[in-house]
Amino acid sequence: MQLFKEHELKVTNSLSGKKEVFKPIKEGYVGMYVCGPTVYSNVHLGNCRTFMSFDMIFRYFKHLGYKVRYVRNITDAGHLENDADEGEDKIAKKAKLEQIEPMEVVQRYTVDFHETIKKLNLLPPSIEPTATGHIIEQIEIIKEILDKGFAYVVNGSVYFDVVTFNESNDYGKLSGRKLEDMIANTRELTAQGEKKNPQDFALWKKAEPQHIMRWPSPWGDGFPGWHLECTAMSTKYLGENFDIHGGGMDLKFPHHECEIAQAEARCGQTPVNYWLHANMLTLNGKKMSKSTGNNIYPSEMFSGENDILSKPFSPSVVRFFMMQAHYTSILDLSNDALLASEKGYTKLMEAMGSLDGLNGGNNSDFEVMAWKANCYAAMNDDFNTPILIAHLFEAVKHINLIKEGKEQLIKKDLELLKATMNSFVYDVLGLIDSAANQDDSASLEGVVQLLINLRNQARENKDFATSDTIRDELLALGIQLKDGKDGTTFSIVS
Ligand SMILES: [Zn+2]
Repeated sequence: MQLFKEHELKVTNSLSGKKEVFKPIKEGYVGMYVCGPTVYSNVHLGNCRTFMSFDMIFRYFKHLGYKVRYVRNITDAGHLENDADEGEDKIAKKAKLEQIEPMEVVQRYTVDFHETIKKLNLLPPSIEPTATGHIIEQIEIIKEILDKGFAYVVNGSVYFDVVTFNESNDYGKLSGRKLEDMIANTRELTAQGEKKNPQDFALWKKAEPQHIMRWPSPWGDGFPGWHLECTAMSTKYLGENFDIHGGGMDLKFPHHECEIAQAEARCGQTPVNYWLHANMLTLNGKKMSKSTGNNIYPSEMFSGENDILSKPFSPSVVRFFMMQAHYTSILDLSNDALLASEKGYTKLMEAMGSLDGLNGGNNSDFEVMAWKANCYAAMNDDFNTPILIAHLFEAVKHINLIKEGKEQLIKKDLELLKATMNSFVYDVLGLIDSAANQDDSASLEGVVQLLINLRNQARENKDFATSDTIRDELLALGIQLKDGKDGTTFSIVS
């Protein structure tokens, strides 16, 4: 269904600082790039919030009937400490510390990232490219930027010439900075080193002998600058001009500003029509930081193994909690806030559970069409999930009244209510009924135990044909039985 034809969607474009009507480059299609994680440690809860915000946006575009190509990269090289041009590569540093290969670091934390976001029910992107898989593309872009005169080579490194670029373009337009101010503020403070100007940034860095992640290039062995990979991967898969680029607010400068400069220097046109930025997550009113201990990992929230929260919280509750805030607002995580979200989530899921059992009545006490329009209006206003959730709770109130026999809806309205609730709760917000999943696993356990008992009976009766059949058929379904001295146990093997 091409719902997008009936809906005018507005998004906050960081480039203008305003809400703008979203018009895709090609009708019916959306190209969206989001800066992915640097895989050198377990994924941060704040990053999970950013990726969840764009997952919700991805889901809403899909719900509206757009064909979306969603590219979210993995940064597995080139990201130096403090997001700077000097210092150690974050991944290489971790590899040295743990005495393993950099690619082992990448593998370990990519797996952690995928497992965590799967628990939070994020959909996989259409393409998930890696920086190290696009070294050739990055070298080609550097050559083009050099040819256009916006970069220079010094001692095996290549730097982007921000001053020259700013003569014909506007460096700082995304983050609202002026190059003259930046120069005035840094001239006295920073040693320039190889750069013509402290604002210049590395496109390619010469690898010192001790640097382990290195590739050959026309300028000698080295590695690409961090900003370049996103220009290479976004334009390769989405074109030189695409619809949406997203990321965390902290990436606006310098990362996204540099991406714009690289792409404009190379192609002479602006790469992105709408820049969307998700805001940060704080913990008990303060910035999350590993060094101060004001930090919690997703797995610690799910398991309850932490000193910050009073109990474990399921990934579904965490997702609901995050959806209760607008993606451009700062969200503060606290025990009380999570407890309140858990209550709300349970109430919503109980109502979803009773929806199917409701029967149509003779007249309608609730204007479902108008309510549905409000739900869309909330989402069309820059993906306003907190307002959407308020509307969903309006419906919960009516669902409970209908259940108690105090209100009724004619069958047609009831069907519309069910379909709309299902779309927004499950498809758009991406919530899962975790209690229903638990019920499933409890009943699976019951069924397998029943079969184990039948098999034991068969063995007692020396009916080995039946007992073997039960064991083999279960194995074919991915359930392995193990006979031990304390009886038979089972594990799920696929
Ligand atoms: Zn990026």
